[in-house]
Amino acid sequence: MRLVILGGGESGVGTAILGKKKGYDVFVSDFGKIKGNYKEVLLINGIQWEDEKHTEDLILNADVVMKSPGIPDKSPIVRKLKEKGIPVISEIEFAAPFTNAAIIGITGSNGKTTTTMLTHHLLKSAGLNVGLGGNIGKSFAWQVAENKYDSYVLELSSFQLDGIKNFKPHIAIITNISPDHLDRYDYKYENYIDSKFRISMNQTEEDYLIYDADDEAIEHWLSTHKVKAKLIPFSLTKTFNEGAYINNNSKMEIKISQDEFTMDTEYIALEGKHNMKNAMAATSVAKLMQIRKATIRESLSNFQGVEHRLEKVLKIQNVQYINDSKATNVNASFFALDSMNTPTVWIVGGVDKGNDYNELMSLVREKVKAIICLGVDNKKIIDVFGNVVDIMVEVDNMNDAVKMAQRLTEKGDSVLLSPACASFDLFESYEDRGNQFKQAVKHL
Ligand code: ADP
Repeated sequence: MRLVILGGGESGVGTAILGKKKGYDVFVSDFGKIKGNYKEVLLINGIQWEDEKHTEDLILNADVVMKSPGIPDKSPIVRKLKEKGIPVISEIEFAAPFTNAAIIGITGSNGKTTTTMLTHHLLKSAGLNVGLGGNIGKSFAWQVAENKYDSYVLELSSFQLDGIKNFKPHIAIITNISPDHLDRYDYKYENYIDSKFRISMNQTEEDYLIYDADDEAIEHWLSTHKVKAKLIPFSLTKTFNEGAYINNNSKMEIKISQDEFTMDTEYIALEGKHNMKNAMAATSVAKLMQIRKATIRESLSNFQGVEHRLEKVLKIQNVQYINDSKATNVNASFFALDSMNTPTVWIVGGVDKGNDYNELMSLVREKVKAIICLGVDNKKIIDVFGNVVDIMVEVDNMNDAVKMAQRLTEKGDSVLLSPACASFDLFESYEDRGNQFKQAVKHL
């Protein structure tokens, strides 16, 4: 069997290793440049590869093709493969049949990484032999090739889900859905929503789908489509006989299979309403996996969150600096602003993916005392908020942004970097942007 892999990054090389181990004739082709360390791995393992080109003769003879998530369906080579009827699948589809581990798959527009890391933390702290993968760290395929885990917690993007046929997580989570990546979905929101729900398409009555019942797109989809899995909703405002919710704004309650788990939210280390949702989703998994209540409580009280997501950096002269660089869309910044309970200097801007800033208007009115625009083109932000916020400043680098923020604050305020935009105009990545923020704060 000839396995051709398009893309020589983490998931491509992971799949190559697994394919080789399982006896496939493997070939990796990348139209860009393959990174040095990955080339080395391919060489050491005796796997054929090419980069900076796609040689059709070596690709169109595949029995099966694994396409890395970054490559769009519209690319010419993928079109040709599809015309020839050659199956094009994603890494999780290829790797899943080679493990008997229980799979917990987590998708959504925001909160995937946080929920995935917290779920993994809950299960691992309880002593389960559990792997962590998907969009995080080492690829799933690579781990299936080299490790023996009893279960996996996987962060799944819609691109990974687009390439599945039989993949079925025992437990699926959809954290929420808001418009994102629409360029890959013919600018149709419905297509993107359908893609997220593929996580549930092969589930049976023995499986579970955990989802945000406050989310309109999710509720609407569920009211018009059939899902076989048992549904476990979570909500900040509703209550359920089977599901998770917040009682009286102060108690997390989870009712699953006639059993009830409760915990005061003040003891949950993560902060903000969105994180209560993430905590409800992750704890529902822990309950389904029958983790002891005392263990769940301890893990929820010591999980400090993930870097660049509402990360508290330092308090200087009683001003709290918060790094939420991963907020690359309006929905994420909405929850960041919502979680602020002091006057806030807000650093925002970058590459806008079609943002509607009006959704933030009432929060900005209520909480933001000054806006620092950190982008190449800040016109839209200035147009929307210019009349609402007294102080609007434009800067073009992180040091100036942080220094300016310090000048505009007084004791008891906060400075929030939550850009609602991608970072590529002034930074290499959201990590680079967050790291520069933290450096600048430390140098104040
Ligand atoms: P993802 O992996 O889906 O991008 P992250 O956990 O990395 O999600 O969080 C991305 C951004 O979204 C961060 O700014 C974070 O504070 C915010 N966020 C986290 N969870 C949620 C949620 N449930 N709803 C909305 N925003 C969230």
